[in-house]
Amino acid sequence: MITPIIDESKIHELTNALLRYNNIVITCHVAPDGDAIGSSLGLYHFLRRMGKVATVVVPDMIPRNLHFLPGVKQTIIYTQQSELAIKAIENADLLFCLDYNALHRIDKLSPYVAHSEAYKILIDHHLYPEPFTHLTISHPEISSTCELIFRVIWQMGRYRMLSRAAAESIYTGMMTDTGNFTYNSNQPEIYEIIAKLVMKGVDKDRIYTLACNTQTANKLLLNSYAICHKMELFPEHGAALIYLTHEEMSRYNFQKGDCDGLVNVPLSIKGIHFSTFIREDKEFVKFSFRSQGDFAVNTIAAEHFGGGGHLNAAGGEFYGTLDEAIAKYRELLPIYCNNNKEKDKE
Ligand code: 5GP
Ligand code: MN
Repeated sequence: MITPIIDESKIHELTNALLRYNNIVITCHVAPDGDAIGSSLGLYHFLRRMGKVATVVVPDMIPRNLHFLPGVKQTIIYTQQSELAIKAIENADLLFCLDYNALHRIDKLSPYVAHSEAYKILIDHHLYPEPFTHLTISHPEISSTCELIFRVIWQMGRYRMLSRAAAESIYTGMMTDTGNFTYNSNQPEIYEIIAKLVMKGVDKDRIYTLACNTQTANKLLLNSYAICHKMELFPEHGAALIYLTHEEMSRYNFQKGDCDGLVNVPLSIKGIHFSTFIREDKEFVKFSFRSQGDFAVNTIAAEHFGGGGHLNAAGGEFYGTLDEAIAKYRELLPIYCNNNKEKDKE
């Protein structure tokens, strides 16, 4: 049994919006991941089945390992086709905001979405959604936006309209946002939903191979280099840090997404429950945090790096040099680790 967790009045409002509007644009967050692209394409295929004109507009490049997803070629990438992207948003009468909770998460798309007169619907699982949409379907307790897209379609009574392409997209985001069902994945209904997706023809083993086993040699070499030469362990704090300069990434012909997953690696070491990856970006230094158990990383991201995220996966930005960023990390480490130790004792 799949519990109807989404407020029926919201499902009703969404259904009405789909009856009223025809020109639909779907947006997702910058540096899109499997959940952002999966939820966007899942909804896209569903809407097209319903006879709607739908377009997915993405702020920047889709990582290569997601290019297998049906519909990726039809997406408009703002950094490559900005005029087309702006026009699509301006012409939309219905706008979906998927897998993000605040306008700044769509980067350069944000003024266009903010000023659009379209009816706006947010479907997301990040904490504290900002009130920039007409309808907000926010469920931080759910492990992926893809799962929410499935639940919306299910509660609308439209499961039969779910195509294999839509099911593959949804499955991909459910898989990637749970680290292939290794965290945030204890809710039994996740597996009921997967069963329903597999019934639509999803080959989950093939999706795993396509999403996870199609990396470049350079990516593997860069990640290996980072672990071998740029990882510092702080056993007394159960913490690990990896940091990379722009030059080191260029050495391995860094492409967007090449360091995805690197921050998770130190968590495989016994006793490490807090992992941080810092990399030099063009205008700032990017922080990625991962943790296990109750250790909240979204508070560190929010309190010191203007970011946010989930309890066990979060990120933010630092404006300064990489060395200053590392110094800031060293300063914060004992404070947050001791706070968590105190919590453990309570
Ligand atoms: P990642 O480390 O994979 O880049 O991000 C992990 C999670 O942290 C994302 O799913 C997102 O929820 C959150 N996150 C990452 N970077 C930022 C950021 O700059 N701002 C906010 N608000 N959240 C972020
Ligand atoms: Mn997500």
